[in-house]
Amino acid sequence: MKRTKAWEEYYKKWKEDHPDYYRNYTKQWKADHPDEVKIQVRKRWIKLQGGAQRRDTLIKTAVMTFYGGGECACVRCGFSDLRALCLDHIRNNGSSDRKNRTTGSIGIGLYSRLQKEGLPRGEYQTLCANCNTVKQQEHLERVRLAKILSLQKDIASWEVKKFKSIKRKLGRHKRT
Ligand SMILES: [Zn+2]
Repeated sequence: MKRTKAWEEYYKKWKEDHPDYYRNYTKQWKADHPDEVKIQVRKRWIKLQGGAQRRDTLIKTAVMTFYGGGECACVRCGFSDLRALCLDHIRNNGSSDRKNRTTGSIGIGLYSRLQKEGLPRGEYQTLCANCNTVKQQEHLERVRLAKILSLQKDIASWEVKKFKSIKRKLGRHKRT
């Protein structure tokens, strides 16, 4: 049937006069065809999965390329398999950043948030899983060394104090 303007208007009015017709029809059809409904739900789920995965891959590729300095690869070693690339907090403040946020701190949530925020510069860089682990170890090693140095300083100043007090006591002893 050719859909003329008059027909469209008539049909629109008819739908307005029978608001529950399609809802009831669909409900009835679903009740009569339980197997078809199950298959449709599964098909839709599979279709959505494919779409979501493609979308996630596109977002991740764009974000990794930006923070990889124009290449979708690790800035340290050049490794370029997207599956093993991650975003590194340049200043090693990842854990405190994650604590302050309820969403958008890891994985695709993080990549989407950064994209929405217009890819801010200076905070992140693209690293592969290996280089990320090595960088974390280097950071921990620096933290450990700094702690050892500060403890050694504490011990040294405590020993100086102790030495001075012994000297004072000895001096007093001499005078008497
Ligand atoms: Zn690397």
